[in-house]
Amino acid sequence: MPSYDANNVFAKILRGEFSAYKVYEDDKVLAFLDIMPQAAGHTLVVPKAAARNFLDVEPDDLAYLIKITQKIAKAANSVFAADGINIFQFNEPAAGQTVFHLHFHVIPRKEGVPLKPPASVREDPAILADQAARLAAALKT
Ligand code: 5GP
Repeated sequence: MPSYDANNVFAKILRGEFSAYKVYEDDKVLAFLDIMPQAAGHTLVVPKAAARNFLDVEPDDLAYLIKITQKIAKAANSVFAADGINIFQFNEPAAGQTVFHLHFHVIPRKEGVPLKPPASVREDPAILADQAARLAAALKT
C-alpha cells in the first residue's frame, strides 16, 4: 500500500488550507459535510492523525473515530429525520477510495430514496451552510 500523502484534500482541510462545512471538531477528529453528497446530510468523519485508510490507522485513533462517528450518526438521524443511516468506509482504489485520508461516510437515508452516485453533483453552498449549522447545533447539545 502507498504511504500517506499529505497533499490529499482532507489533509488540506485539516490544515485550514481548504474550507469545509464543519459540523464537529475536537482535538482528534473533524467532521464536515461532503460537498458532493449522495443524500442530504452526507457527512465525512476524519481523524486528525495522518492515516491513509483503515489499514494503517493506529487502533486507538480508529476506536475514537468510530465513537465520534456514532455520535454524528445519531445527530444526523435526528436532524435529517432519517429512516436509516449508512456508514460507508473504503480502502484503496480497488475498493472505491478516492481521497487518501481515512474517513467514514455518514449518510442519512429516506425510505425509497436512492443514493446519488458518489461525487456526482456539487451541492448548493447555501444548502450546505444551512445543513452544517443545524447539524453542528444538534451536536453541541
Ligand atoms: P471516498 O470515495 O474516498 O470514500 O470518498 C471521498 C469523498 O470525498 C466523496 O464522497 C467526495 O464527494 C468527497 N469530496 C471530494 N472532494 C471534497 C472536498 O473538497 N470537500 C469535501 N467536503 N468533500 C469532498
